[in-house]
This record gives sequence, structure tokens and C-alpha cells, in this order.
Amino acid sequence: MTSATPKGPQPLQVLLVDDNPIQLSLLRHLFQRHGHLTIEARNGAEALIVLATEFPDVVVSDCVMPLLDGYQFCRLVKDDRATRHLPVLLLTAQGAGLARFWAKTCGADRFLVKGRDLDHVVEVAVALAEQSSRPHTAHAVPKLAQENFGVDAIQRRLALALEQRLIETALRDSIARLYTADHDTSRLIQGFIEILQELVLPGALLVAYLGEEGLWCHGVHGSSASAEDRQALEKAITEQGVIQSTPDCHWHPAADDDERRRSLRDPLLRVFPATTPGYPVVGALAFLTERRAAEDFERLFEIAAEELGRLLSLEDSRLRLYHQAIRDPLTGLYNRKHILDMLGMELDQCGRFEQGLSIMLVDLDHFKAVNDRFGHAAGDQVLSVLAQRMAFGLRKVDQLGRIGGEEFLIYCPQTDIEGARAMAERLREHVVIDPIPSLPASDRVSLSIGLSSWEGPEDTPERLLSRADKALYRAKAEGRNRVVG
Ligand code: GH3
Ligand code: MG
Ligand code: MG
Repeated sequence: MTSATPKGPQPLQVLLVDDNPIQLSLLRHLFQRHGHLTIEARNGAEALIVLATEFPDVVVSDCVMPLLDGYQFCRLVKDDRATRHLPVLLLTAQGAGLARFWAKTCGADRFLVKGRDLDHVVEVAVALAEQSSRPHTAHAVPKLAQENFGVDAIQRRLALALEQRLIETALRDSIARLYTADHDTSRLIQGFIEILQELVLPGALLVAYLGEEGLWCHGVHGSSASAEDRQALEKAITEQGVIQSTPDCHWHPAADDDERRRSLRDPLLRVFPATTPGYPVVGALAFLTERRAAEDFERLFEIAAEELGRLLSLEDSRLRLYHQAIRDPLTGLYNRKHILDMLGMELDQCGRFEQGLSIMLVDLDHFKAVNDRFGHAAGDQVLSVLAQRMAFGLRKVDQLGRIGGEEFLIYCPQTDIEGARAMAERLREHVVIDPIPSLPASDRVSLSIGLSSWEGPEDTPERLLSRADKALYRAKAEGRNRVVG
């Protein structure tokens, strides 16, 4: 038997599975009329026996049959590496309760409703056979063919396949739950690694992702994984192309000393990119395990990588949204709401530790004239250049936000009014030293700054702001380009 996929008019070999002889002969006639070859089985168990020696291009199977039904048969076909590629088309009875649900969850490639869609059965089967990517290598022997095909063997396989499904579902579920429980990227990854460790016990596993603070790389290893093994994992994950530079990996020994971790006589290394459709690759997952255990782990790691991709892209979207929500798009500074929220929190600290704080309310002088003379776009550029310069002139603990059109708020923890005055004067001088790109070289924009300081636990952001606003008003009235407070 050849394994080439027939194209166009080439006849297919179709395995038909049905316990009803009339239905079976109907299907036989339909396919044979189109020049295809058919093999037949009367239930799922017979079909499995056929698959041990025959290599059909597509299976068309009934659902409700004695001994082994269509769903169970399909699960076993899809669970076995040797037959996984084989397209399965299930024929369900019309309106049969959970039929559609089971047809979908047992891994069937398509399902058609018996009475209604039967006209299309040949067309659909041919399309499935053409789409399927059959391995070009020699045919592997299905697992059941290696056993004795008894009812016992089939039941054992079925139980294993169902258990595998249950593990896969539990794995997806626990990873998805992480996201609802925690919104801190590194804790999410820690949780992800803990789940994987409990479920599968490889020699070593490594997770890398590109996060907010650049590349993050975290690994766990058993006592059998040597330093060379770990380096090999780091190298393999770098070669995936997800990560440009060689990561600085943080390795931890696994929590329990399981025997399975100890023996790595014939190790196998695998890397999976963590991707989500429509999103750039955001991470990768690599593991090292004993070759004979690899088959058990491989599918789970594939699922874990898929879920990791989903987790990381969700986290990425969440962070982007968060940044959008707290920042002003023109200058990139914190927006009014966020800087005032932060100031509120900082005032709580002042109350608790009896530490001072001062604020500066900064307003550009005659800014309306800049817009009028050079246009709004030039005005925008002035705002963003001055915002950069102000941010550059501050200490790490000071925070700056844009609270109005050409108005900015800076708060300086542990700073009294004199300290704030000195900083404000420096700021006022600093921003006008260099020319501003969108303005003529001789034009400068000056700042007026109003100051106020924390006066005790009763003080609120609003009161501080109102006192600074009064001081700013005086700075304007006294001729602008000055600090008052
Ligand atoms: P004063 O010295 O009294 O502060 O005068 P001023 O012209 O700076 O103050 P006024 O409040 O009269 O005008 C502020 C101007 O800032 C008016 C407005 O067009 C401009 N402005 C506010 N937001 C933006 C912005 O996002 N982009 C630009 N280009 N201009 C803005
Ligand atoms: Mg102004
Ligand atoms: Mg103003």
C-alpha cells in the first residue's frame, strides 16, 4: 500500500464504519460511484483492527455502534501517534442531544448529520483527505496492533486516552486560572512553572519571555541535570529566535528529589515557542527529559506552551492597556488622574512617617501665543520637549505628570519648601538653556511655578494643589518666568 495522498481524480481508500448494513451499503455505493475504494467495519473495535494492517486516506464513521462507538474510536485514533494524521468524518444523527458536542471534543475532523448532509459526504471526505498531512515516513504500527486486540486491550487504551484528555484539560484549566488569580508577570510565570513541575517531572525545564523589563528566564532542574544540560537548554531556547541576546537564566533546584529526575542516561531536549495566533512570539518553553518518557511529556508541553503564549499575550495586552490608562499620550508623562492618585498615596506615607513633601505646579508662559504664531503642531512639540527636559531634571523619587493643557504637577517627597524652591529654580533655568527644535533659535518658552508643602495629616492633594495654584497665580501676576511659594 502506498502512502501518497491522492490528488484530484486519484481514487481514495475510504474506511467506512457503521453497524447498520443498509447505511453501510449506501455509503459504499456513494464512494464507489465516484471511483473510490472502500474497506468496511461494523463498529469501532473492528475499525481499529482494520487500521493495524490497512492505511486508508480517510475514515467515515457512524457514532452510535455496539462494542466501541464512533467517539471512542475517534479518541483512540487521535490519541495514537501512528494514526493521529488520519482524517475522521463522523456521521451524527439529527438533533441527538450531545452528539455535536462529543463529535467536536473527541477530536473528529468534521461531522455531518446523517439524513440531511449525506449528499456531501464524498465531497467532504475527499477534501479532508487532501488537507491532511500524512507523514512521509514509513507507517508506524498503531499501539493496539502491538497488543492483542482483545476487548481488554481496547478498554485499557480507551481508559488511557480518556485519562490523557483529563490531564490535558486540567493542565489548560490550571494555567488559565493563574491569570485570574494574579496580575504580576513574574508571579504568573512562577505559578506556571509550579503547575508544570507537579504535572510532569522532566530533568529540567526553562521558561523565557520578553516582558516589560526585557528578557526574563527562569529554570527548574532535578539533581540529574548537569550544568552542561542546563546550558544546552539555554542555548536551544536562544536559537528559537524569540530571544536575541543570551539570557541570564535563574535556575532553581526542583523541590522534591524524585527518582525520575535522577536518571537522565539518554536525555532528549525539546523547545516550544509560546505563541498565540495574531500575536508576535512572546516566549518559549524548553525541557529536557529521559528519551523514553518524552512521548508522555511532549503533548503536555505542547499544550503548556500554547497556554503560556495565551498567558503572555494577555499579560502584554493588560500592561499596554494599563499604560494607556495612566499616561498622557502626547508627552508620555502620567496623566492627571494617575499623578493625583500617586500623590494621595504619598500623602498617606507622610502622615505615617511624619515626613514632609512639596509640590510644584508648573505652567508655561504665554503658551497660547506659541500656538498662534507657529501652529498647534509646533505647540505640541514644545510641550513634549519641555516634558522630557523637566523629567530629566528630577530625582528618582520625584514624580511628574501632565495635569492640564500646558500645566504640570511635580511632587517631591521628603522635601521642604526651601528644597522645592531650589529645585524649581534649577528646573526653570534648565528648560530654557537649549533652543527648542520647533521654534526659532532665539525663541524660548519660560515657566511659572507655584509651590506648596504638606502641612500635616489633615492635608489632601486638593488642598495642596489649591495653595500651589494661588502661588502660581501670583507668579503670573508678578510678571511670569518665576517661582513663588
Ligand atoms: P499664561 O502665561 O497666562 O499661562 O498664558 P497662556 O497663553 O499660556 O495661558 P492660557 O491658559 O491662556 O492658554 C493656554 C494655551 O495652551 C491655550 C491652548 O491652546 C494651549 N494648549 C493647551 N493644551 C494644548 C495642547 O495639547 N497642544 C497645544 N499645541 N496647545 C495646547
Ligand atoms: Mg500658560
Ligand atoms: Mg494654563
